[in-house]
Order: sequence, then structure tokens, then C-alpha cells
Amino acid sequence: MKTFANNNVYNLLKNSVKRDIFSHFYIFFGPDDVGKKRMALDFSNLLLCDSLIEEGPCKNCENCKKITSDNHFDIQIIDNNTPIEGSKDIKSDQIRIGHIHEIIRVANLGPFMSKYKIFIVDKAEKLNTEASNAFLKLLEEPPTSSISIFLVNDISLLYPTIISRAQRIGLNVASEQDMSNYLSENFSLDKSTENKIIQLSSGKIKLAESLANNTSLLDDYKEYYNRLFDYCNSDLSERLNISQKLSSRFRTDRSIIYNELNLWSDFCKIVIKKKYNKSHDLNYENKLENIFDVNQINKIILILLKTISSLRENANSRLVFDVMGLNIPEKNH
Ligand SMILES: [Zn+2]
Repeated sequence: MKTFANNNVYNLLKNSVKRDIFSHFYIFFGPDDVGKKRMALDFSNLLLCDSLIEEGPCKNCENCKKITSDNHFDIQIIDNNTPIEGSKDIKSDQIRIGHIHEIIRVANLGPFMSKYKIFIVDKAEKLNTEASNAFLKLLEEPPTSSISIFLVNDISLLYPTIISRAQRIGLNVASEQDMSNYLSENFSLDKSTENKIIQLSSGKIKLAESLANNTSLLDDYKEYYNRLFDYCNSDLSERLNISQKLSSRFRTDRSIIYNELNLWSDFCKIVIKKKYNKSHDLNYENKLENIFDVNQINKIILILLKTISSLRENANSRLVFDVMGLNIPEKNH
């Protein structure tokens, strides 16, 4: 699949490879789902291709073929769940010194079949202190053939000493036009499905791809939306009933509820955006904008965010949902 968003970033990387001027260490940063890993793999492909053409990799050489089939020996993707050889330590939330030692060991072996050995460290903000220090040691004298790429959501979570050693590359969400071009080039979707995906993905390529590959997910989104609408459309006593259900679901699975509340807030943002710039409609039968004005919808977003943060602070969940039900405006008649 072809890179489409952040084309300027891609072109910059392509030119640096063509001119043979690049760094041993990169940090790709930007919001969730904007395609940081995809960009890292595209960049790796530029670096490893045997016969680059004007547009990019040739797609024909052994290196290109291996990359396309996701099994190039000289590209390693590491995250906190990557097993550490010879270590019994189980799953951890951190990227640990063992991971970095393994990178150093493999980097010193040199590439297996191409010019470079590339290490992509996903969610690099999870490097613990020991691992960060070990990585800084590697940067002091990096093997000439090794290139490391850190992927992070929030660059400020990395140690300043690490940030200062890196070539930093920021990635952004795609514009509606870019997203539309991308979807029509790579998928055969009808216009209304395409528009729904553009709205729901808010410029995040990974999310748009998963929706386009599995359009039945759109029905789930619609269900989430309808639950939000029903909640807003109901009177106080009904809301308090729903509060009880939300609260008991929260006690069994927190992540489901966080996900739902975040989606509710995303839906409100989509409705407001549509009001201002006349972008595409989600075309749902139940329209939030028919029962609330923009100020009220804005208020709902704030209440949802407040609800999430109170839940994270371990407040009594039943109470938090009751307060949410009381504070969300009553619908206009
Ligand atoms: Zn090639």
C-alpha cells in the first residue's frame, strides 16, 4: 500500500536517502494511528532497496520483496512485549535493558542481506531509565550500518539527552482531501461508506485502513452512536438507570467504558465540525444536532472528559455516572 499522508515527510526522507545523507537515529512522533510505523517501514524500504527509482523503491529486488512480505531479516521491530533471549522475565510494561543489549548485539553483527540493520522501537516512551542509558551508550559509537527509529506519541516523554541526539520527524493526521484520495485509490468503497470512514477516522490512517478493510465495524460505530443519542435523548430517571448499567460494566471491564466514552466525545466533535465547515455527514437517522445546539454539544464533550478523568482518579463510579447524567443538558424541544 502506498504512503499518502505526510507526503512531505516521505519526500524528505527519500531525498536524504538518495543523497546518502542520513542519521543513525530518528524519532518519529505524532498522535496515535497516524501511521508512524508505516512511515518507518517505508523509510526502511528506501534505505534497503538495491535499485531506487525516482518514485522510491523498485519493488522488484530481493530486499523490496522481503519487505513487502513482512519478513526482512534486517528490519527488527521491538516493543515492551518483545521476548528477551535467555531471560525469564515475563510481560512488562517497560522496554528494558535486555532489549537494548539485544539491539547492540545484533547491530554489531551487521546486516544480513542488505546495507543496513534497522531497529524500529515502537512505543519508545516505555524505555526505562536503565534501557535509556544503555541506548545512549550505543549512540556514542553506533555501528556504521545500524539505524534506529523510535516511534512515540509524545516526544516529551523521552529523556532530553536522547531527544537531542535524534533526527526528529513529526507526523500529522491526514486532511480530508488526502484521506479521500487515499481511500479511492486503494479501496473500492461506495461514496457514502467512504465519507463515513473519513469522518470517523479523523485523519488517522491506521483507523481508516482498518475500517476500510472491515466495513462491518461501521455498524459497531453506529451502535455506539445510537447509545450516545439514546442517552442524551432520555429523561433524568432513564439516565440514572443507564448510569447504573454503565457503572456495573465499568466494574467488570474498565477499558470498554473508557473506549465508549472516548467515542461519544469523538462523535460530538464530528457533529460540531460538520456544523462549521459543512464537511460530510455521518448520515445517521438520529441527529444529535436536532436536539442540542453547538454550545450544548461542546458542554457534553467537557462532561465526558471530566467523567473519564474522575473515573481514572478512582472516584466512586456510580456517583460519577450519576453526576454525568445530571450535568448533560436536557434536550431542546
Ligand atoms: Zn528494490
